[in-house]
Amino acid sequence: MQNLPEIDNLIKLISKLPGLGPKSAKRIILKMINNRQEILRPLANNLSQVIKNIERCKICGTLKPNTINCEYNNCSLVEKKYDKICVVENISDQWAIESSSIFQGYYHILGGTISDTDNTNNRENLLINSLIERIKNDNIDEVILATSATVEGQTTAFYIQDSLKNTNVKISKLAQGLPVGGEIETSDDGTLISAFKNRRDL
Ligand SMILES: [Zn+2]
Repeated sequence: MQNLPEIDNLIKLISKLPGLGPKSAKRIILKMINNRQEILRPLANNLSQVIKNIERCKICGTLKPNTINCEYNNCSLVEKKYDKICVVENISDQWAIESSSIFQGYYHILGGTISDTDNTNNRENLLINSLIERIKNDNIDEVILATSATVEGQTTAFYIQDSLKNTNVKISKLAQGLPVGGEIETSDDGTLISAFKNRRDL
């Protein structure tokens, strides 16, 4: 292969995405380069728009335009007040739970698990301090840990449980209706509803 550092770097970056290795990264990049007008250029523009305009809310972890306050279900800033917070790994988990309509309350999006390599400063990146503040400020009476039934998800749930031990809030965890290794975002509504209904106190 020719020595093209731009392409090599791109392969390295794309290989870091979920489910992709170097082989599929190369295929994706070639597809993009061969479709310069239809894919490559709009993709580059869109990515730079995302960098410029979209950020993570530092309170609840959801994605939002950086010019406005968080006003979705997540944050305490919404007018409707809730007494429960559901803690999920990713925004796609929130979408899955919302579509099942089983939960009415705030969400707290960790942005990954404690084992993610990007989470070098876990407490800060997972917004644990913010979660504690929210529990206090919003008179939360239950925190529902809805992390995946994977080793990483369960380790993360334990870490959060430990971090919250001084708050005296009730902590519960989704029931193991979720298959072992099961991820929230890919679970069907029935499985999620049963996991919420049968959640157990920790
Ligand atoms: Zn927010």
